[in-house]
Amino acid sequence: MSCTFTRSKEKDVSTKRLVQLPNGEFVVANELGQRVYKTFMVVSASFRCDKGCPCCTAQITTWPKGEDCWERMDDCLARCEQAGITFEYVTMSGNGEPSMYPADVLRGLKETFDRYDHLFEYRRFQTGGNILWEPEVWNIFGPTYVFETTRMSLDDAEDMEILRYRRNYTESPLFPRSRVVFNHTLLRRNEHRLLADIEGYVRRFGNVLAAVNLKILNPNTFDPNVLSSRQSQWILKHGLGKNDGQRIVELMDAHFPRVNDYNPFYDRYEWMHPSGIKITLYARLASYGLPNIVFYQGKLVDYGLKPQRLELPEGTDILALWRAAGEQSHVRA
Ligand code: SF4
Repeated sequence: MSCTFTRSKEKDVSTKRLVQLPNGEFVVANELGQRVYKTFMVVSASFRCDKGCPCCTAQITTWPKGEDCWERMDDCLARCEQAGITFEYVTMSGNGEPSMYPADVLRGLKETFDRYDHLFEYRRFQTGGNILWEPEVWNIFGPTYVFETTRMSLDDAEDMEILRYRRNYTESPLFPRSRVVFNHTLLRRNEHRLLADIEGYVRRFGNVLAAVNLKILNPNTFDPNVLSSRQSQWILKHGLGKNDGQRIVELMDAHFPRVNDYNPFYDRYEWMHPSGIKITLYARLASYGLPNIVFYQGKLVDYGLKPQRLELPEGTDILALWRAAGEQSHVRA
C-alpha cells in the first residue's frame, strides 16, 4: 500500500509518501529518507488555565506530577534529528494554558525550537485565547507561531458560555495580527449547521485563519476504558463519536474537494475550501496520537506515557522504501 501527497507548505515543498516498514508499521517519509511525524508536542507537568471547558482533556488525563526538566529539550530534539525524524509542526501545548507558564521559560523553549528550526515545517501554540491578552508572551511567539484554539461554536456568546471564559479573545487588539487554527468541536447540537459554520469561519476570520480542524472529542486519550470523570461523561453525552466520523466525511466529500488521501499514519481527511483554507478531520480510526511524539518531564513518550521507540529496526532503508512506494495517488494541497 502506498500513496504520495505533495503539499505546499509555509517553508518548503517536499514529496511525502506513505511507506510500510518490514514489521508492518506505516510511516510517512520524504525524499530525503526522513520520517515525517505530525507533531512534536510539548506538555508541562503542571496545570494552569483560565477557562472551564467541560471536556478538558488535561483534567481527564491526570499525568503524574513532577519536574518539567525543560533543560532536556535540546537533547530530546537532537535525538529526533539523529533518528532521522522531522515534523510537520512543533506544538507548544498544555497541560492547561501554556501562555501562563513563566515568560523566561517560554522564551528559553522558543530559543531551543529555533535551534532545531529545520525539523519543523511550521509551529503551533495551543491556547484558550489567553495569549492574545498577554503582550509579553505574544511577542515571543506571535510573529512566527500559529495559535490553535478549540471552539464549540462560531457564535462568541455560545462559545463563551460552553467553555466558560469571560474575555472574548477575538476582540483583543492582538487578534488581527495573529494567525489562527480553529479546532471546531463536532457536537450533537452543531452537526446540522456544520457547512454554514465552516462558511462562517472563513467569512468572519479569513484574514487570520490558517486552517479549520473538525474535532471529534476523545473521552479519554490515556485509557479508553476509564470514562467515569465528569469531563468524559460530558463528551459522551454531547460530542459526536468516532463512529459518526464517516457521516461527516460523506458530507464534506459532497461539498469540498478532498486533498491528500486518507492514510493510516496521519489518520486524517483533508479538504480544500474554495478560499484556499484547508479543513481537516482527524478520523480517530488508528491508535490515538500515533504520528505524534510527546515531550513530558524530559522524556519522549507517547500518549500512554510509554517511551517512544525512535530508532528504526537495524537494516531499514527508508529511502529505498520511499522510492519503491510509487505513486498510487498524487494529491497537491
Ligand atoms: S482551555 Fe484547554 S486546558 Fe483550559 S480548560 Fe479548556 S481544555 Fe482544559
